[in-house]
Amino acid sequence: MSKPSIILLAAITIALGGLCGSALALQPVAQSLQNKPAFNATAALETAEGRFAADGRATTLYQPGFRARVRGSAEAMAREFMAERAAQLGIASSPATLTTAHQRNDGGFSVVRFQQALDGVPVYGSDIAVSVKPDGEVIFVSSEARPSIDAIPVQPARTADDVRKQVVQAFGMPAASDVLAPKLMVYADAQPTRLAWVYVIRDAQKAGEWELVADAGTGELIDFRNTEYYVDGTATVFDPDPLTTARATYGSGGLTDASDADSAGLTGQLISVTLRDITQSAGVYRLEGPWARCQDWAAPSGGVNDCPTPATPDFSVTRANQKFEGPNVYHLIDKQMRYLNQTLGVTVVPNTVAGGVRFDPHGFNGDDNSSFSSGSDQLQFGEGGVDDAEDADVILHELGHGLHDWITNGGLSQNEGLSEGVGDYFASSYNRSTGHWTPADPQWFWMFHWDGHNQYWGGRVTNWNIGHSYPGNIGSGIHDQGQYWASCNMVAWVAIGRDAMDKAMLLGLAMTSGSASQKVAAQAIINAAAASGYSATQINALASAYNTSCSYNVTVPALPDLIFKHGFENP
Ligand SMILES: [Zn+2]
Repeated sequence: MSKPSIILLAAITIALGGLCGSALALQPVAQSLQNKPAFNATAALETAEGRFAADGRATTLYQPGFRARVRGSAEAMAREFMAERAAQLGIASSPATLTTAHQRNDGGFSVVRFQQALDGVPVYGSDIAVSVKPDGEVIFVSSEARPSIDAIPVQPARTADDVRKQVVQAFGMPAASDVLAPKLMVYADAQPTRLAWVYVIRDAQKAGEWELVADAGTGELIDFRNTEYYVDGTATVFDPDPLTTARATYGSGGLTDASDADSAGLTGQLISVTLRDITQSAGVYRLEGPWARCQDWAAPSGGVNDCPTPATPDFSVTRANQKFEGPNVYHLIDKQMRYLNQTLGVTVVPNTVAGGVRFDPHGFNGDDNSSFSSGSDQLQFGEGGVDDAEDADVILHELGHGLHDWITNGGLSQNEGLSEGVGDYFASSYNRSTGHWTPADPQWFWMFHWDGHNQYWGGRVTNWNIGHSYPGNIGSGIHDQGQYWASCNMVAWVAIGRDAMDKAMLLGLAMTSGSASQKVAAQAIINAAAASGYSATQINALASAYNTSCSYNVTVPALPDLIFKHGFENP
């Protein structure tokens, strides 16, 4: 990142307008729409034999007590069971036939799955799993058979495309794309039986992946459900960056960018981590979770630069692979957001979009730059020199702009480079918290440990307060000036620790607005800390950092316990 990272403010008024105008529109669809219970979720009767619905049909048989008369294929033996027990499963008089949908063989037994169909058109939700041993004994049956199916014609009155336009509009996701091709199905979850088009859609801007069931004649939306699941995945990442974990300088031990190539030294610094609450849908895994969400909107796009969607939850690759940066960013944003929101208990989430901080791991036209866009609440990372998305300092700096924006409801200030300083503060706070550097190391005071301080870019520092003074001598340009803010607050960080300082930073910034200077923000932080139960020792440490190590000249708030200690208040 030879050029300093920037923040895009162009669309901030749009964000504010959206917030004031329609709070409802910001509700995540997945949270406002609940899936209805599964068709056979409640049993009217449960016995040692199995579970039974209110009409008496079996939905599960624990001990079917059935053995095929003729030893044959698993499917043939399962079909023999189905023919003999159709009445028990409530489908004896059904006009639907059974098609074999799936079969697996795990050695000791096979599971044969049947689907009901009407003239070849499958019945929505119907799934009957018959588990049979090689000797013909049926050991378990689990049935989602639909018991009430009318013999309706199965020629759709309207095309899938025609109905789709109507139904995505009705569902409130007109911009959604299809995850799977639409399917013609018979819908018999309710009476009367209807011919339906079934769509699986997702809108990259909204949470969830949705299955929509629409009447193939009228286009009416008759059912829907969220088909997305959160699971944990794994990945190899740099955390926070390879030079920090190696306690090394750029260029030593193969620790160079070398045009994004792998080296034994860099591979040796990879750490295996759990990717928490990623999404499993339609047979792939996506970097989409409650706190972070990978999205490929900025060039370079598509192909290797698209967000990875592996078929297994293991995203592990080495850093030369373009699919490395996605999980690297996901891991770090997820970790930081959980820390701030859950560990510290300070709610700070994007203002304009629900469902995780949006990031594009390969953006900015591939240039050596990164950004946070306040209008769309999106982060994008370029890749000149060291890929920006390989360095936690860059990732957490850009996220820091977001935190500043969100905690002020869009009232982020760049006066005196305040927001640059906020980004540098949160990145430095995290890097130091990993415990690799000590105050004796020059790197203790570095920003952009891997992306900067090399031949591509000099990086920044967090001891900028030494040799500078506020307000007249903090440097020129927002990035130089921001270093003063980060440096002063990192002095306080040493005194009161990461948890207390990160929390005070957020609580204080929350009280500020769009033209806040560094001094205004410092005063807000010390006031916020005093009002939030910080001890006299902590307040005095903040005051010392702001007024002695730095020259903000803040007014130290009067503390009840300070007054009490000095005997000014009678018990
Ligand atoms: Zn910045």
